[in-house]
Amino acid sequence: MTTKRAWLLLAVAALTSLSMSVQTQEARYPMTIIAPGKGPFSFPPGYQTPWDKIDIMVTEKMSPNLFVLHGSQGLDPAHPDASGGRAMVLFGPDGVLMVDTQNRQVADKTLKAIRSFTDAPIKVLVNTHIHGDHTGANAFFAKQGALIFSQENLRNEMVRPPVRAGGQPAPTIDMTGVPVVTYNYTAGAPGQPAATFTMNGEIVDFIPMMPSHTAGDTIVRFRKANVIYIEDFYRNFGYPFADQANGGSIKGMLDAVDLIEKLADAGTTLVPGHGTLVKKEDLLPYRAMLVDILAKVKTLRDQGKSLKEVLAANLTAPYDKTTLGDTQQSKDRFITEAYDEVKDFPPIVDGKRTMPVHP
Ligand SMILES: [Zn+2]
Repeated sequence: MTTKRAWLLLAVAALTSLSMSVQTQEARYPMTIIAPGKGPFSFPPGYQTPWDKIDIMVTEKMSPNLFVLHGSQGLDPAHPDASGGRAMVLFGPDGVLMVDTQNRQVADKTLKAIRSFTDAPIKVLVNTHIHGDHTGANAFFAKQGALIFSQENLRNEMVRPPVRAGGQPAPTIDMTGVPVVTYNYTAGAPGQPAATFTMNGEIVDFIPMMPSHTAGDTIVRFRKANVIYIEDFYRNFGYPFADQANGGSIKGMLDAVDLIEKLADAGTTLVPGHGTLVKKEDLLPYRAMLVDILAKVKTLRDQGKSLKEVLAANLTAPYDKTTLGDTQQSKDRFITEAYDEVKDFPPIVDGKRTMPVHP
């Protein structure tokens, strides 16, 4: 064989193996296209999110027609690892089904990202919880044609927001963005879907959750792709956040983790609202941390310690090394939640709690 011919054969072999590896890669879901940032991130005092600099991108593909959208890292101080909250888009001939809508300020960019892979009409939208990084562009997508679904508590939280410490005036509500179809969590039947959609070759369940991250949480299961969007009762960037004023609780987040252990199998991809994609086994150390911190805070509070003293005890120290985004603000928020929860925890009324104000 001449050298020239040998090189040619080698080149052909290399090309063949390259195209094969591209093919096998294409068949392997989920695919992470752009991973969230790891930090550390810091922002100067008075920093304001430059919305015009944020890109909304396809960051993960869960199947050939189920994509995840998320924002740029390093620009949004509330979510430095990737701006806003994840949105999911199921698309095809039956139209678009969306999970959450990202921040209001980037609504046009979110739509543009969707239009980069589908021209199908926007039909169904479900909100996993009230927070603005998940519902902010509701009105925008309702105008695109989306019928909005959520728990009734979420609708209540949106129409009559809780009074917050500091007493900031409630934002004005655009009624076009308020959920139209509502359902409730049934304590006797956790994990029972409130609605099931058969669309675009996928079967999608909207599963109302117990009060956990808020009192209006919904998780979304994509049966064929074996994917569950688990929103924010679990997070792996920053310390846990139970929005107690909107009816959330740390104990409820424990129940939520336990329900996922039942609903998911070992291979199910779990999509949190923030941080990296996980499997159900990854929730266990998180669960253990919640139990540990609740118990330690309760012991100190039973001893009559003030919130200031409990914060000073630095109870999260053993977890700082393994917790990305472990800012002082994130730690203090978590410990304050635990402190408020272990004694005189206010009840949920109309999807909300009247939380104590700490000076
Ligand atoms: Zn949230």
